[in-house]
Amino acid sequence: DSYLIPKYTFDKFIEGDCNRLGRAAGMAVANKPGLTSFNPLMIYGGVGLGKTHLIQAIGNEIKQQFPEKFVLYVSTEKFTNQFVNAIRNNSIEAFTNFYLQVDVLIIDDVQFLSGKEKTQETFFNIFNHLHQSGKQIILSSDRAPRDLAGMEDRLLSRFKWGLTADLQQPDFETRIAIIQKKLQDDGIQIDFEVLEYLAHSIQTNVRELEGVIISLMAQASLTRKEIDLDLAKATLKSIVNEQEKELSVENILEAVTHHFSVELSTLQGKCRKKENVFPRQVAMYMLKELTNLPLKSIGYHFGGRDHSTVIHAVQSISEAMETDKTVEKTVKKLFNRFNLNAN
Ligand code: ADP
Ligand code: MG
Repeated sequence: DSYLIPKYTFDKFIEGDCNRLGRAAGMAVANKPGLTSFNPLMIYGGVGLGKTHLIQAIGNEIKQQFPEKFVLYVSTEKFTNQFVNAIRNNSIEAFTNFYLQVDVLIIDDVQFLSGKEKTQETFFNIFNHLHQSGKQIILSSDRAPRDLAGMEDRLLSRFKWGLTADLQQPDFETRIAIIQKKLQDDGIQIDFEVLEYLAHSIQTNVRELEGVIISLMAQASLTRKEIDLDLAKATLKSIVNEQEKELSVENILEAVTHHFSVELSTLQGKCRKKENVFPRQVAMYMLKELTNLPLKSIGYHFGGRDHSTVIHAVQSISEAMETDKTVEKTVKKLFNRFNLNAN
């Protein structure tokens, strides 16, 4: 099983200025896997901008053109879990050998390799073997290689060997084209003023755009109405209201793990590395500021740390916010997700 999802094709991946280079490079790689200088091909960009879609499309296209090739898509999370299991079961060799058989390795969200030294080392070896044998490697990441913290230099330098292309927020025209395509696929036509309204109102990312269209189609069929401007406005309004996050420990922790691309287990774990300590302290600070939880309970959510650790975290972040604009901005942005202002 290659774990490719058939619906993610080039045909469905709308081209715009925001993704032109990545799309073209992806096509080139799909036509000649392992034979272009785009090896590895590294696609990076923010959440919901089409990384998974694009790298899956490359895999699907290769399968189409070269059915004999072993194309494998794997998320970094899954790769890591498999590796951890292999350690536990004493089967690292089998794990590595499996990956060495692959002709095209597609690995999604490599930012999650951050701080995982052993996994990085094994991935480095697999990478080298595959690359030397002319196999194609395709990577995605939520940020540029230069901004990936907690990654070994030799691995980072490998990431930059081939071509690095970023996906950006789609511009207005591309958003129009994406909405049109999604509706068209469902045989729905809407007025241009509604299209324009939607494309103007949703500027964040494609996933959100898609979410709104799906809700809109559901609303229309539920109420047996046409998709008109009124329905579009009402749907968007109800979605925005829903998105205002409820204040809960889970949502706060989720916001922090999401923002810093760390896993919950890392946030709650004991690792003293700077890139893990900072998000952890931010999370403690937010819980202290946003909830009425006693310090002891806050500590409890972080693997049973005591209240002095929480006090220390709160002090560090308060001080950092005063002296460091980036920290201040980061924390305010996180507070904003709950529609509250950081003081
Ligand atoms: P990421 O992996 O970057 O978070 P995804 O690849 O999961 O983003 O994309 C989110 C959603 O948006 C998917 O359903 C995808 O099909 C859609 N999408 C993203 N970019 C495009 C595009 N250029 N054209 C059409 N659909 C897109
Ligand atoms: Mg993705």
